[in-house]
Amino acid sequence: MCIFCKIINGEIPCHRVYEDEKVLAFLDIKPLNPGHTLVVPKKHYENIEEINEEDLIALILAIKKIGLLIKEKLGVAGYNVSENNGEVAGQEVPHLHFHIIPRHNGDGLGPWPRKGYQDGEAEEVVKKLLA
Ligand code: 5GP
Ligand code: ZN
Repeated sequence: MCIFCKIINGEIPCHRVYEDEKVLAFLDIKPLNPGHTLVVPKKHYENIEEINEEDLIALILAIKKIGLLIKEKLGVAGYNVSENNGEVAGQEVPHLHFHIIPRHNGDGLGPWPRKGYQDGEAEEVVKKLLA
């Protein structure tokens, strides 16, 4: 059983911030900022490709509620919502989860470095995606 399933069934403790029939949210054990929250479906899905639409809708609606909760109750100006899909993208726990990361001016969490497109490269990408 995965570590988040153990948290969901109570085998491992967590700091719970939200719960409903389909979703649990708890504080990340190694926060990027205080209040960094993980939002997970109670049913085990490895990634966003596996989850069914009903559970995904419940998850995104919970994310919306918890984002607002974090903003209002913790007094943060904004937050990032992100999901690492696959090991190469930084997914360490193989149970679908969204991060909600409170943000403050000057918190040191910089933007990702951006790249440009070579001539014709964007057209190639779109051609592959639409083929
Ligand atoms: P990922 O890199 O898979 O997107 O994120 C996994 C997150 O889970 C990490 O931010 C990590 O700190 C958090 N995490 C790993 N194990 C535990 C745990 O046992 N409890 C809690 N609350 N968070 C965990
Ligand atoms: Zn799991």
